[in-house]
This record gives sequence, structure tokens and C-alpha cells, in this order.
Amino acid sequence: MPELPEVETVRRGLIKKVKGRKILKCKVLWNGIIAYPEVSKFVKEIENKVIKDIERRGKFLMFNLDDYYLISHLRMEGKYFIKDHNEELSKHDHVIFSLDNDKELRYNDTRKFGKMYLVKKDELNLTPISKLGLEPWDKELTKDYLKDKLNRRLPIKTLLLDQSIITGIGNIYDDEILFLSKINPNTYGKDLTDKNILDIITNTRTVLEKAIEKGGTTIHTYTSVDGITGMFQQELLVHGKKDMPCPTCKHKIIKTTINGRGTYYCPNCQK
Ligand SMILES: [Zn+2]
Repeated sequence: MPELPEVETVRRGLIKKVKGRKILKCKVLWNGIIAYPEVSKFVKEIENKVIKDIERRGKFLMFNLDDYYLISHLRMEGKYFIKDHNEELSKHDHVIFSLDNDKELRYNDTRKFGKMYLVKKDELNLTPISKLGLEPWDKELTKDYLKDKLNRRLPIKTLLLDQSIITGIGNIYDDEILFLSKINPNTYGKDLTDKNILDIITNTRTVLEKAIEKGGTTIHTYTSVDGITGMFQQELLVHGKKDMPCPTCKHKIIKTTINGRGTYYCPNCQK
């Protein structure tokens, strides 16, 4: 699943190709992708809008269309491609935006789990954006904020995935952040020390920045708009490394499941 660094990589790739372009027409081939408003209204309202910019909140892409936002969540397998308008459609192209330069922006999604919302800028409350917590780099992400939010009888692994606390941490980076912070993923949020919390903040930023720099991590079939494959996978320390030696102490890395999510950690470094 694309996580924050992958979505940021897609955003940076897309922006170079579509910024300033006008959407002349939109065709929806799979209605389930359009979450709001109803498809006929979506198609009509997005016509003739200019893509002023593309922003990102958590794992959502936000196409800034002047007085509207097109909000897009890629979920498991969503991808954007830029193609010539006369190029044949692929099997899983579900939403087609015809641009004013004879190109098409095509949303492709083999699993069809992705969602799009088209709202006026003051209607973000109609979208999941309004429920997101802080971005990892938000100045308001402080020890006190996080201590308050994490003060629960739930494993820290689970709490870091809660997008209403910090937005943008997915399953892969969660493991990496906890490894660097030397915290056992089963530790309850309420039992974390102040140092643990400060380490989580620092390492969240470090891990995600490094991943963005590398173009994200490729798991399964994810590719960015340029077809660039994320290089961060080669840098992962514990995620996906079952039975391999811990990069710090050489102890075998363990795989376990916490609230249904595959979790990797070093039982020696993360006691
Ligand atoms: Zn270790």
C-alpha cells in the first residue's frame, strides 16, 4: 500500500506534468471510485477546472482546482498515468481526465479500492481529510500533544497507525520508527516515557524524510507516476526481515501480529 512517502513521490511527479493544465472533460468508467458527489455531478463540476497545484495531507492527494479540491486516496493499488489521448486504455483505467494539451491523466486501480472526492474548499468536512491528525512535520506535534494522545491501553504499534493522531504513518514505517526508538511494539501507549515520545517524534520525521528522498518503498506493484521504483526498500532495517540479523545487535528479527498487522522487531533492542 502506498504510504506517505510514496504519495509524496507521486505528488512531486504529477505536479511537473499537470500543474496549470485545464481539465476539459472527465470520464468515469468505474463509479465506485467516486465517493462524493454523485458521479454525474462530479463529472460536470470538474469540467474546465484548472489544476493550480497538488497538495498532500497524510496519504491523500489534494488537487487544488481554485475554488475546489479534488481529493484522491490511492488505497491499495491506485496509480496515476499521463498518456496521449489516442493511446489505448488499460484494463484498470477507471477515471480519465482529458487535459488541454492532448494528454490524459488516467487513474488506474487494479483493486478498485481508491476513492475520489470533489468538494468546494470550505467543504472539507465532507471528506476524511477533516478527521486527520497532525502531519509529521507540524510544529504542533510536540511531546505534550503526543503524550496526551498516546495515553491509552493500546500497543504503540497500533496507536501510530491511527491517522487521527499523526497522519501518514503506515505499517512499514511504523516498524522502522519503533526500531530506531528502541521501543517494543507491544508497549502500551500509556507506559511510554517522555524520552520514548521524543524519540518517536524525531524518528518519525527522520524515517519519512529519508523515504521521500529515496522515492518511497515499493511493495507489490506500486510505482510512481514516472514509473520510478522506490528505493527505500533497500534501506529498511526491520520491516520484512523475519529471521534476518538485527542491523544493530545481530539477534534474529521476529515477526508477530499486533491487531492484525504484521509487525517486525528485534526482541533484544526493543525490550
Ligand atoms: Zn537488535
